[in-house]
Amino acid sequence: MSVMKQVPEDWQRGLVIVAHPDDVEFGIAAAVGRWTSQGKHIRYVLASRGEAGIVGLPPGQAGPLREAEESTAAKAVGVQEVEFLGFPDGRIEQGLPLRRDLARAIRRYRPEMVVLFNFGDISASGRPNSADHRAVGRCALDAIDDAANEWIFPELGGLPIWSARWAAVAGPVVTHAVDVTESVDAALESLTAHGRYLAALSSQSVAAQARAIVEQSTAPVEGFGAARAVGFELFSFRD
Ligand SMILES: [Zn+2]
Repeated sequence: MSVMKQVPEDWQRGLVIVAHPDDVEFGIAAAVGRWTSQGKHIRYVLASRGEAGIVGLPPGQAGPLREAEESTAAKAVGVQEVEFLGFPDGRIEQGLPLRRDLARAIRRYRPEMVVLFNFGDISASGRPNSADHRAVGRCALDAIDDAANEWIFPELGGLPIWSARWAAVAGPVVTHAVDVTESVDAALESLTAHGRYLAALSSQSVAAQARAIVEQSTAPVEGFGAARAVGFELFSFRD
């Protein structure tokens, strides 16, 4: 019997907020694929274009390439809308400008579910987490409240306030899970779209890297009766 709860699925609009192209695909694309196959509408907002992410490729060339890879990756799991906020890759600061832009994105799109990447101090691979991941995750969680408050960013006054219902954070704490058994293949296709990025990351083939990463990110979650799963820490903002 499952003791781990399922992430709620009685919603229609989800907003995924991450720092870089490839963040969604390294962890949660399989969950996105399940949700879009249920008819949910999901949009990605990326704080940066990932322009500092490829060794040997200058940012002016890497930025457009990585935007294109991300758009292809998104489509593989049923996501057509990808927005890039243009914060500088590797130098994203936790602070009011980022919170304001994320609050604006939340008010524009009005998601019931906000989905975030791991923004703890330690990454899924056990290394210290990226400064960008920490900044974007924390600001995104703050921006959920900011979007619901008319006084914090009065310059957003043209957009009505919005209260998201949940935030699902992809680890390190897991309180809920998503059964992604049927969407592992789409997640693999999604990650494989980052071909140029992965080629620069390791001497292993893109296909081998993608398989290993998706295998790890969709490993069964303890206490949750699904062959493949993605775990989240779920926060409720409304009862
Ligand atoms: Zn990243």
